[in-house]
Amino acid sequence: MITIRGIGVSPGIACGPLHFHQTEAVRVQRDTVTDPEAEWNRFLLAQEKTIEQLGILAEEARKTSGDEAADLLEGHQLLAEDPDLTDAVEALIREQRLSAEAAVIDAGAAMAEEFDALDDPYLKARAADIRDVSGRIASCLSGNKAAKEPDGPVILAAKDLAPSETVQLNKEKVLGLITEEGSENGHTAILARTFGIPAIINAKGILDPSLEGKEAFMDGGSGSIYIDPDPETKEVLLRKKEETEKQTQLMQSLKGKPAVSKDGQRIRIYCNIGGPEDVPAVLENDGEGIGLFRSEFLYLGREDYPDEETQFQAYRKVLTAMGDREVIIRTMDIGADKQIDYFNLPKEENPALGMRALRICLDRPEIFRTQLRALYRASVYGNLGIMFPMVASVWEVQEVKTRCEQVKQELIAEGIPVSESIRIGIMVETPAAALMSDRLAQLVDFFSVGTNDLTQYTLACDRQNSSLGRFRDTHHPAVLRLLKLITENAHRYGTEVSICGELAADLDLMEFFLSIGIDELSVSPRSVLPLRQKVRDTDVSSCKEKLLDAIMSEQP
Ligand code: PEP
Ligand code: MG
Repeated sequence: MITIRGIGVSPGIACGPLHFHQTEAVRVQRDTVTDPEAEWNRFLLAQEKTIEQLGILAEEARKTSGDEAADLLEGHQLLAEDPDLTDAVEALIREQRLSAEAAVIDAGAAMAEEFDALDDPYLKARAADIRDVSGRIASCLSGNKAAKEPDGPVILAAKDLAPSETVQLNKEKVLGLITEEGSENGHTAILARTFGIPAIINAKGILDPSLEGKEAFMDGGSGSIYIDPDPETKEVLLRKKEETEKQTQLMQSLKGKPAVSKDGQRIRIYCNIGGPEDVPAVLENDGEGIGLFRSEFLYLGREDYPDEETQFQAYRKVLTAMGDREVIIRTMDIGADKQIDYFNLPKEENPALGMRALRICLDRPEIFRTQLRALYRASVYGNLGIMFPMVASVWEVQEVKTRCEQVKQELIAEGIPVSESIRIGIMVETPAAALMSDRLAQLVDFFSVGTNDLTQYTLACDRQNSSLGRFRDTHHPAVLRLLKLITENAHRYGTEVSICGELAADLDLMEFFLSIGIDELSVSPRSVLPLRQKVRDTDVSSCKEKLLDAIMSEQP
């Protein structure tokens, strides 16, 4: 048995013969051409043909593979007619006298390199789309044929697969996908997840000629590949395959269904994200909205503050991709465990109790104003909620609301449109905010309880300290009592309550969350469907009283 390890990007177990995917390399004529005009016309013809072919493929994909695949091909259609690409090709043909094939490959590579150089993993992954499109035009120019389809069901292995090749895979015949290269956020990985095909990237050595045709087992969750597995490994994997298939089927059947308990209580299940690159996972897992966009990730890994335009683009992208679904963006939570050099924060004895999050924003109006301007400008592109972290006092919220109003009026005076329906909320993650929730509820539209910090501050247990073990009880009655108090106070004033800390994904607490009337949970995308299942299996009325008595009981 040979074991190869890569990165699992689409879960599931597949077994079958290993088939190597081969596409003919494009024949690129690199000698200078004598008739650039003729070469330019050849390019224009191939470009037109490619756009037409992509349109036909998109139409077919909409019927057979779903909207995501079709949208990708339509996106490629737009890329194929991109004026920057076209101009670059023309310049290379006319000025450097390159052949049309060489010009489109080189122009595509230069554009892709620009995306490759970006920090944002989502934009970075778009480089593959550009290479795919320029390769397709070049292939059309040199009259290449598509790769030969395998005869029967196989595990397909390739150096890399272009997104448009993944879209066109015959899903009856491809049991799993393995590539030597690729990226987790690339369209190939995204599509494999959408189609439910197990996939592994970065599997170095998978294309060793001696492995072609051999029996292979792959685990798209762990990223392991076993060639000619021994009987015991085979048995374990076959059992796992059966279990995961059952689970996957159950989860798929939940998509599009609401999270409603057996006795009719509704709770929304939203997702936590760190940036636009996480949105595909939200959509794949049918998240009803985004309950926490940790905007500080836009500030991390940089040399200087992200400017208004950079932030605006990121917020707009998420809002646009989510359509009507609500997107709650939290203003930056820098400080404590997220330190950034260019903020030049003074060294602190207790950073978790120091200059953090909203405190920085209120003390440094320019940084805050830039973020608020970007948020308000983006508000017209979707359904936006803005929330503020680390609130401890009523005056902080009053000051925040004044700053928001100032930014709004400033933009209106500049003639920039802003939405009139932005919801304003705060994170309740300090014991002070929890205890003042009756007053705070009158000032905002929603609360989002940050149980990671609320637990840390309530139990006086540093969330970074892994040695606290049993002293950090995530189900501590003090935290649960605060959750109940926060919800009661909020509901008295028609303010909604969400939980966006890790506790929200705790299946064992679902009955409690429903019992106290939590309106929304916001969790990592892959927790959405298991939580939805749990809600649908719960009968709130049968457990409510017992549960609440236990938490409020005075008995030690
Ligand atoms: C929390 O404190 O629970 C929370 C969601 O915020 P963060 O983990 O980013 O501090
Ligand atoms: Mg927090």
